[in-house]
Amino acid sequence: MQSKENGIFSFDPASNKKRIPTIIHIVKPSEGSTANEAEGKEQNQIDVLNAAFAGNDMGFEFVLIKVETHVSQDYWNEGPLKDNMVKATREGGMETLNMWFVALDTYLGYAVFPSDTFNELDGVVNLHSTIKGGTSSPYNLGATAVHEVGHWLGLYHSTY
Ligand SMILES: [Zn+2]
Repeated sequence: MQSKENGIFSFDPASNKKRIPTIIHIVKPSEGSTANEAEGKEQNQIDVLNAAFAGNDMGFEFVLIKVETHVSQDYWNEGPLKDNMVKATREGGMETLNMWFVALDTYLGYAVFPSDTFNELDGVVNLHSTIKGGTSSPYNLGATAVHEVGHWLGLYHSTY
């Protein structure tokens, strides 16, 4: 298993960090629904990730390049693993972090570990209310996504 630290990210000499273009997907069960607590709080999560990963020698910088909203009862209800949703909506190459905020019954979040070849399920899926400002107290500080992005980067449970 190869860590993504080994070269797929572009380096930003100005900040001395590796840039990770990040797409946040907001899934809603119906048009006009306010059920997804992450909606409108996307930048909170980027800020939490940058605070967690920039202040050490890993030097990653997350840049929110797009917020995509998907209105889909099927994705909202898909079950503990949102494979159909991820396959249908993922964008970009291996260097692009895709994060989905959606309803999850069993987990606070999960991530696909890195591999040498592109995985169509690549990305991080989070329970929407774990975002900073959500209602999943005490898991509403954005730390779930930090933990899962750590996995996505090739780190293990103990680190984050
Ligand atoms: Zn873990």
